[in-house]
Amino acid sequence: MERYESLVIGLGAMGAATVYQLAKAGVKVAGIDRHHPPHTFGSSHGDTRITRLSVGEGAQYVPIVRNSHRIWRELEALSGEALFEQSGLLVLTSWEGFDPGDASDFTLRTLGLAQTYGIEHEVLDAKQIRQRFPQFAQVADNAIGYYEPEGGFVRPERCIDVQLKLAEQHGATLYKGETVTDIRSDAHGVTVTTDQRMLQADKLVVSAGNWAGGLLGSPFDRLLSVYRQQLFWFELEPGAELEGVSPTYILTHGQDETHYGFPALPGEGSLKIATAQYHTVSTPETLDRSVSAAQEREMYEQQVQGRIAGVTAKVIKSAVCAYTVTPDHHFIIDEHPTLQHTLVVSPCSGHGFKHSAALGEAFAQWCIYGKSELDLSSFSLKRFEGQ
Ligand SMILES: Cc1cc2nc3c(=O)[nH]c(=O)nc-3n(C[C@H](O)[C@H](O)[C@H](O)COP(=O)(O)OP(=O)(O)OC[C@H]3O[C@@H](n4cnc5c(N)ncnc54)[C@H](O)[C@@H]3O)c2cc1C
Repeated sequence: MERYESLVIGLGAMGAATVYQLAKAGVKVAGIDRHHPPHTFGSSHGDTRITRLSVGEGAQYVPIVRNSHRIWRELEALSGEALFEQSGLLVLTSWEGFDPGDASDFTLRTLGLAQTYGIEHEVLDAKQIRQRFPQFAQVADNAIGYYEPEGGFVRPERCIDVQLKLAEQHGATLYKGETVTDIRSDAHGVTVTTDQRMLQADKLVVSAGNWAGGLLGSPFDRLLSVYRQQLFWFELEPGAELEGVSPTYILTHGQDETHYGFPALPGEGSLKIATAQYHTVSTPETLDRSVSAAQEREMYEQQVQGRIAGVTAKVIKSAVCAYTVTPDHHFIIDEHPTLQHTLVVSPCSGHGFKHSAALGEAFAQWCIYGKSELDLSSFSLKRFEGQ
């Protein structure tokens, strides 16, 4: 039976970053994935992921994303690939009932964090939003915008691919198309069984995304819910000059009504726009991966029409992806309650990609030193005790 210093189960966003950082540090490491990453069956596909320094989800994420931005640039220098595009990020709230004193508003939360952490930004009123960003010509007169020049998007498939290739160059072994079926541990280490072999290691990182609940059982199967999400690429109107002037954005346009989108990218002739839904639970096995014409129409009518100028109702591409969400929508990063030497990571509640490079570095430190430089204590399982 092959023995490694570290094993990583799942080579998506989190696992690819972890296996790369471990291999770079000279650790004898193997990664295992049931598919051939980057692939379209998990949570890390669809061309683009938002990244922003002022992470409105909470202050605990700010140091993590800062490290990720550093690592994306390091990876670009090593690989020659474009991974992180600082297109600028616009977070805006625009609806008639918007209360500028509402502390729960996502734009105001983002703004508050930027002020606290000294993150470069501008505050825009409705007139400035309309002038600077023609796609938002229709914002309400009371709209407010937060513009972060360092924000933008990363390319998820490329990030995974680059990190896996670099990991292999540093000597990592990658078992692809191989499914882990059992994990055991004792005082000497862990034993991982796949549908093709058994492997042993001193340390194990489990970053199985949507599949984590099924693989790990209690308490993860109770704490993690999988939600199907849809992504749409709407064709631009002829003559719509959005290339170079459309930012990455998050638009709140009503109470609990939000969608997000990406810049019009050269040669694509479209804007990618998506929402997040937390009503209908799914499983990786039963996830409906097709998008119907009715769903395309509904998306256009509810989110795009009257809100985003320069975009037609024609969907030129769509995709289905899934969030794995915890009860409080924050991450779980903790040692497994019963398996020894095992760190469980990743169910990132739909906002994890931007942090993945830095988290991979932190998980590698956990494997090597037993702890990470980043303080990840707020993501511990303890907060769910009794649930
Ligand atoms: C539609 C959508 C939009 C998003 N937008 C953003 C965004 O704008 N910004 C942002 O920061 N984040 C965003 N996210 C979240 C982010 O993409 C995820 O948090 C992140 O990609 C999750 O990575 P992961 O490594 O946990 O999971 P995955 O990348 O899915 O990786 C899990 C891997 O585990 C493997 N695996 C599972 N079980 C086994 C097993 N038994 N044996 C072997 N291998 C196994 C799978 O094959 C898979 O490759 C979005 C997510 C979605 C779905």
